[in-house]
Amino acid sequence: MEKALKMPLLLDGKALSESIRGRISEEIEEYTSRGFRPPTLAVVLVGEDPASKVYVGNKKKACQKVGIRSLSYELPYNTTLQELLELIAQLNADEEVDGILVQLPLPPHIPQQEVILAISPKKDVDGFHPENMGRLVARLEDGFIPCTPLGIDILLNHYGVELKGKDVVIVGAGFIVGRPLSLLMLWRDATVSVCHIHTKDISEYTKRADILISATGVPHLIKANMVKEGAVVVDVGISRVGDRIVGDVDFEEVKEKAFAITPVPGGVGPMTVTALLLNTLKAYRRNMGL
Ligand code: NAD
Repeated sequence: MEKALKMPLLLDGKALSESIRGRISEEIEEYTSRGFRPPTLAVVLVGEDPASKVYVGNKKKACQKVGIRSLSYELPYNTTLQELLELIAQLNADEEVDGILVQLPLPPHIPQQEVILAISPKKDVDGFHPENMGRLVARLEDGFIPCTPLGIDILLNHYGVELKGKDVVIVGAGFIVGRPLSLLMLWRDATVSVCHIHTKDISEYTKRADILISATGVPHLIKANMVKEGAVVVDVGISRVGDRIVGDVDFEEVKEKAFAITPVPGGVGPMTVTALLLNTLKAYRRNMGL
């Protein structure tokens, strides 16, 4: 007899994004048909990093599709901290700008934290300002949650993945993904472990995860023997290997063991952009008193 093919549930961030973006688009159309201006996001890119250019291009395209106006500021690599701070001050003061996004990483001569601190927390749609990170710690709904953690939360919730009391193991403790995600998963009452490059043996942790989320940027770091049978596996990693984009998870191996898994591409990536659109809409509603 032929061996039955075991198919894990595919957590399809692309399809879910399409439906959420459809709803965002309808809501914006409703506002503009009532005579309100469209939501507006200022997108700032410093330098010529090719990956950053692609990300910024995708974000602007997604904005345009749902009716969010994006204002583009492309500054040369040798822009000074002072010049960037002046632009941010101008955008903070502009009532027609609802959200400000400064694409990271910045060139090494510009201190990232100073730039993040300069963005008005009310326009900080990336959620990186310490005031918004603090709201995440304090579990206050009125802050902005960083886009990748928020996108993952929406994806898991959509597929009915229970988090309360579950063992969530996050591999990667970066500022953009791992750290804020650990706070969000705690908010959802999961038992959270966070591994990083100094963790002695990550598989000791990953093997007991009900929900395993990897955000390291190390291609195929997560192998089948590191995953518990029936786990939900979320792959945040994006790495270029030759002409292919691969994640942190060895998808072909791990899919045999997982109950559910995100593909790369088409999983967390589109959800991150969708979360940015949701945060921009939230900033707009508040700014316009809607
Ligand atoms: P980062 O460099 O800030 O953090 C990486 C983390 O991984 C660090 O905590 C580091 O200690 C840990 N790490 C590195 N190698 C490890 C190893 N061998 N074992 C255990 N831990 C290890 O990176 P980041 O900004 O958090 O991004 C991580 C990855 O996620 C990258 O591939 C990035 O491209 C991707 N990313 C994807 C999206 C998306 O929308 N899908 C969004 C943001 C980032």
